[in-house]
Amino acid sequence: MRRAFAWIFVLALVAALSGFFLFRVPAVQDALMRTAIGSMAATGHDDLFEADALRAVLCGTASPLPHPNYGKACVAVFAAGRFWVVDTGPGSWNRMGLLRIDPARIGAIFLTHFHSDHIGDLGEFNLNSWATGRKGPLDVYGPPGVERVVAGFNDAYALDKGYRVAHHGADFMPPEVGVLRAIPVPGPAEGLGPSVVLEAEGLRVTAFSVQHDPVTPAYGYRFDYRGRSIVVSGDTAKTEAMVEAAKGSDVLFHEAQANHIVEIIGERAAAAGRPRVTKLMGDIPSYHTSPVEAAEVANAAGVGLVVFYHLTPSPPFRLVETIFTRGVSDVRPEGWILGRDGLMVELPVGSDEIRTDWLD
Ligand SMILES: [Zn+2]
Ligand SMILES: [Zn+2]
Repeated sequence: MRRAFAWIFVLALVAALSGFFLFRVPAVQDALMRTAIGSMAATGHDDLFEADALRAVLCGTASPLPHPNYGKACVAVFAAGRFWVVDTGPGSWNRMGLLRIDPARIGAIFLTHFHSDHIGDLGEFNLNSWATGRKGPLDVYGPPGVERVVAGFNDAYALDKGYRVAHHGADFMPPEVGVLRAIPVPGPAEGLGPSVVLEAEGLRVTAFSVQHDPVTPAYGYRFDYRGRSIVVSGDTAKTEAMVEAAKGSDVLFHEAQANHIVEIIGERAAAAGRPRVTKLMGDIPSYHTSPVEAAEVANAAGVGLVVFYHLTPSPPFRLVETIFTRGVSDVRPEGWILGRDGLMVELPVGSDEIRTDWLD
């Protein structure tokens, strides 16, 4: 018996050592790289574009507070053969890149408002979709003021754009295509109520006002496609306008701020001699919605599923998720989920079904 163990040990050692030395052979390394990069080089998740369902993927769930893995506010909606992006928070492009979704299939961007955690990656979405073959300027819808934001990004990326054209050629990267084009949506800001901002191949996108004072105007967006619907709140305090806009929709992506945790951050910052952080933590509850309040909005609107995103603070691990959502089950026992980057929601056409999955 002892001899058998000795042989197993010797064989394992030989296998480990030969594996180690084999891995140092360039031909073996190249073969491994071809296998690994082969799957990374192809586009991924092409089935998201199929017309049999309305789908959405969370491309950023964090708030301005840092998170080691997650991007900031971003929801990608898949309909009419393209994807439509609500907000482009810092780090959200990285998430889209990791999912390998074909960037050139972007339809447009919809900005809810112009806080930095919602606009930071605008230039990256433009650059990457241009480089991979987008056919025209990238439209950016938003409240009045979007012209200024878009002009700033176009200006900030102007030198980069010049380098790309010089390097790859104007035929390959036409300069007139590689720009963002602002499309202001004034209606809700002027008190005209929800406004249809885009209709394309069965998809209708509607903008509506939310309550994010002193950030005015601030919008949310509703997507209707072949009888299914998705609503994205953007940043808002609990408001009746949100309930109205989400009435009868299938899925509501709603921001959520755990004020009971924010309060503790403020306390601990004070104890650590960081009064400015304490001040900031004290100010932010006025223009955000707690998870329990978001669940109440979902109940009042009669939505099938509410997905919490734009999480303040974004839970670093599962135990904190439980603390974050304290009290939610008391007001809404089911029909809610805490979003994380990569969550996919699928709404098959011609049914009431709501499916969820995690993409990587
Ligand atoms: Zn905001
Ligand atoms: Zn925000």
